[in-house]
Amino acid sequence: MSEGNRDNPYSFDDYIFVRNQFNYYADDEFLQALVKKFVPAQEFEKIHEELKEISNKVSFEWRDLADEANRLENRAKVTTIQHYDAFNHRIDRIKRCGETEKLEKEIFSLGLYDPKRNTPWSRFCKLLLLYQLGEFGVMCPIACTHGAVEFASKYENELDPEAKEILIHMREGKGKYSNGEYGLGAQFVSEIQGGSDVPANLVEAVFQEKEGPDGISNVWRIYGKKFFCSAIQADHAVVTAKPKNTSSPTKIAAFLVPAWLFGNKIKEIRNSYTIDRLKPKLGTAELPTAEVTYNGAVGYPIGPLEKGLGNIVGIVLSLSRLHVAFGMSSGGLRVAREAILYAQFRYAFGVPVSSFPLMINQINELDRSVKRAMAAAFKVYSEYIYFDEKLVSGIRELERIDDLEERKRRFRLRELVMLQKIIVADDSPRLIRLAISFFGGHGIMEDFLSIPRFHRDSMIMELWEGPRNVLLTQIHRDFQRVSNWYSPEEFIRDLLSGANNEIINNLAYRFSLIISHDTLLRSDPQTLAICREWEALSSDIFHAYQDQALIELDFKGKPIKFSSLLRKFKRQEKEHFKEKNGASISESEPEQKILSD
Ligand SMILES: Cc1cc2nc3c(=O)[nH]c(=O)nc-3n(C[C@H](O)[C@H](O)[C@H](O)COP(=O)(O)OP(=O)(O)OC[C@H]3O[C@@H](n4cnc5c(N)ncnc54)[C@H](O)[C@@H]3O)c2cc1C
Repeated sequence: MSEGNRDNPYSFDDYIFVRNQFNYYADDEFLQALVKKFVPAQEFEKIHEELKEISNKVSFEWRDLADEANRLENRAKVTTIQHYDAFNHRIDRIKRCGETEKLEKEIFSLGLYDPKRNTPWSRFCKLLLLYQLGEFGVMCPIACTHGAVEFASKYENELDPEAKEILIHMREGKGKYSNGEYGLGAQFVSEIQGGSDVPANLVEAVFQEKEGPDGISNVWRIYGKKFFCSAIQADHAVVTAKPKNTSSPTKIAAFLVPAWLFGNKIKEIRNSYTIDRLKPKLGTAELPTAEVTYNGAVGYPIGPLEKGLGNIVGIVLSLSRLHVAFGMSSGGLRVAREAILYAQFRYAFGVPVSSFPLMINQINELDRSVKRAMAAAFKVYSEYIYFDEKLVSGIRELERIDDLEERKRRFRLRELVMLQKIIVADDSPRLIRLAISFFGGHGIMEDFLSIPRFHRDSMIMELWEGPRNVLLTQIHRDFQRVSNWYSPEEFIRDLLSGANNEIINNLAYRFSLIISHDTLLRSDPQTLAICREWEALSSDIFHAYQDQALIELDFKGKPIKFSSLLRKFKRQEKEHFKEKNGASISESEPEQKILSD
């Protein structure tokens, strides 16, 4: 024990130095191993180079922009809206902090959905790096634009010419709506009476021949309220509504609705809708989420009117579910890394806190959990890419596929998308909380680390794109519908192919018992017991899938070590300093510079 010292020399500088020098791709052997395993050989070199380049931005400049945008005073800015200008014009202008706007511009300029600039694998790998920013003000519209582009592209040949312009704006950053920038998409489905029960939507669409106040005739117009409209700053939104005076007036149709009609963005004249309020939120605080009233907004149908629900769930929400899962998994890599490095840096009772047996177990649990989640995210996404990034819209569409093996494989992907979303969204807050605990009291200091923001945001992932219960019910129903061509036992055997037989047999047995129960919607004691078991089993199944994905990766890299990284980054800094200032500078100078930084 040392004596008292009023000039306490304690410093966090070495930790901050290592954390801030860490390059999210170049220094992450685990992520690189996954990219190497999954990206096809002919693309690997190009993508590897692109990732190194983008990582140089993500890991430093963009990380700082994201952090700055999330300072409390900046977060508060996204809940502000100016309804009128000084001349009594309704404008509903969203005000955000400059850092988010800059980040959004730079990230959208990557043209992630532009087939001339990105392949499915390059897009996916870049998205993973971007999600480590933990900046949902930008990543929400990135996810929504993905869904909008995929959905509109599916029906590209049938789109109204104006809707085609909108698609080109979002996909290629071209066309009459573009100012040289890529368009941002959003998706507005949820209404005040409920987000889970989409068929109960009340917003209506009416085909109006008569010219409206905007000078447009013979067009669909949207009327009614949407209650959770995230990325309200977007240029265009996919909006669900029930089409009046058609053969399917009670069914959900989907429309592409520009926020501003062509030429009106600059004049701030919105497309006949008002933004009534911005919601103050626990998580994803830098993302403006609004309540909106449509009052005759012009919308262009995407796909057949009566197939809107299938398309929205099958394409748009499924893609968002993939984003939630791989985004949180990738964010988890950063969270675990920063927490484990801190545990190795920090001392208590004379030793690094990472050396206490209780901590060793917790570190291993966190490390293994985020790694297996990431390995599984690659495995699931590789199936999505295998099917040319096309998801089937529902079981009926699936049953039209004659090749039974292909049908089953597509069905597995459909169920995996839901399972992965539920389990990752459920695991994330728990794992981030564990990571926060490694920091002791510093773990909840907003200006000490970014992880409190990741924790708040992770709470939202459970609610987005189908809460847990809704998806568990959907999976149960799906299995009953396919029972004559795919049994739950066979599904588990196929899904976990290669895994330990004992695990497979146990899960297959338990799963078939659950699926053999006719419904989850009766409240008798037996159904309650089945529901309880299904909640636990869904985690067991997906965790077994994650474990298997990690085993298949066979990662042989060394675990991260604070002291090695400190040495490596100091050496790099020295070399960098020499390069900049000439070889004659003495060896000790960069170290002095580090200390004075
Ligand atoms: C930050 C944030 C941003 C959002 N942004 C958007 C957006 O941009 N666009 C959009 O369309 N929506 C958005 N949403 C809405 C989100 O999709 C809904 O919150 C979600 O679908 C749930 O709907 P709800 O909130 O009305 O809950 P409810 O539907 O009222 O559900 C309440 C509870 O009932 C349970 N429940 C419902 N049905 C069943 C069932 N069959 N079996 C068992 N339990 C059930 C649910 O699991 C939930 O726990 C956003 C939500 C949040 C929190």
